[in-house]
Amino acid sequence: MANDRKRWRVEPGRLDLERVDPASTAGAPGDKATTMAQLPALSERLADLQGRLWAEGQRSLLVVLQALDAAGKDGTVKHVFSGLNPMGVHAVAFQQPGDEELAHDFLWRVHREAPRRGQVGIFNRSHYEDVLVVRVRDLVPPKVWRSRYRTIRHFEQGLVSEGTTVVKIFLHISREEQARRFRQRLADPAKRWKFSAADLEVRTKWDDYMAAYHDAISKTAEPDAPWYVVPADRKWYRNWAVSRILIETLEELDPQYPPEAPGLDQLVIE
Ligand code: ATP
Ligand code: MG
Repeated sequence: MANDRKRWRVEPGRLDLERVDPASTAGAPGDKATTMAQLPALSERLADLQGRLWAEGQRSLLVVLQALDAAGKDGTVKHVFSGLNPMGVHAVAFQQPGDEELAHDFLWRVHREAPRRGQVGIFNRSHYEDVLVVRVRDLVPPKVWRSRYRTIRHFEQGLVSEGTTVVKIFLHISREEQARRFRQRLADPAKRWKFSAADLEVRTKWDDYMAAYHDAISKTAEPDAPWYVVPADRKWYRNWAVSRILIETLEELDPQYPPEAPGLDQLVIE
C-alpha cells in the first residue's frame, strides 16, 4: 500500500511550519497535468471506500480542515469530496459563534455536528478556531485558551474510542499566494462576494496566526488524531495530497460490507 500521507503527517513534538514550503509539490506523481489526470481515479477510489463505510454503518471518519482565508478549504471540499454519496456526508462550516453558542462551552456546537456511524464528517473550520482566531483576537483570556489544548485532546480521544477516525488537515499557503487570491477575488464578480474586509486583518496578524497554528498543531498532534500539513499554494497538488491522505486512512480502516443473509445464492427473483 502506498504511503504518501506520511510525508505530510506531523510527528508529535516535531513541527517547524517555517520549513514547510507552501509551494512544494514534493512526492506528486508528476507535473500538474499528469497529477490532475490521476484525480478522477482517486475520486472513484474514495467513493468506493466511502460506500463501504456507509454500508458497514459502524464507524465514521471526521475530516477537520483548517486554514487561513483563501487557502482553499471550500475548493478542497468541492473537488475532493464531490464524488462521494451525499447521503453519507455531513459537511459543516463553523462561523463566528452566536449568543446561544457562546453561552455554552466551546465544544458544545462542535460535538453535535460530529459524524454518525457510517458517515464522513467534514469540518470547514472547527473547534480549533477556539485556540486560533480566539487567541489572536484576544477573545478570551490566555488562561482559558491555553487550557483548551488539553480539552481538545481529550475530546478527540473520546471520539476515537467510540469509533470515529479523526484526521486533521492544515492547508498551508504563503502570504504571497493569499494576496494573489484576494486580488483575484476582488476582480471576479463570481468570487467577489467571498471577500470581506475582515480578511485583511488576518494579513496584518500573519505571524500571530502562524504562531497560533504552530502551537495548536503541535500540542494536539496525537498518534490516533494526527495532523497533516499540506502545502496548498498549488491547488492541483493540494487536491491530490488531501485525496491521498483520505484514501490511505480509509484503506487502513478497511470498511466491510455487512454479512449477507444466508441463502441468497438460491434465491430466484420471479
Ligand atoms: P472563506 O475562506 O470562503 O472566506 P470562511 O471559512 O472564512 O470562508 P467566513 O464565513 O468568511 O468563512 O468566516 C467565518 C469566520 O468565523 C472566520 O473569520 C472564523 O475565524 C470565524 N470563526 C469561526 N469559529 C470561530 C470561533 N469559535 N470564534 C470566533 N470566530 C470564529
Ligand atoms: Mg472568510
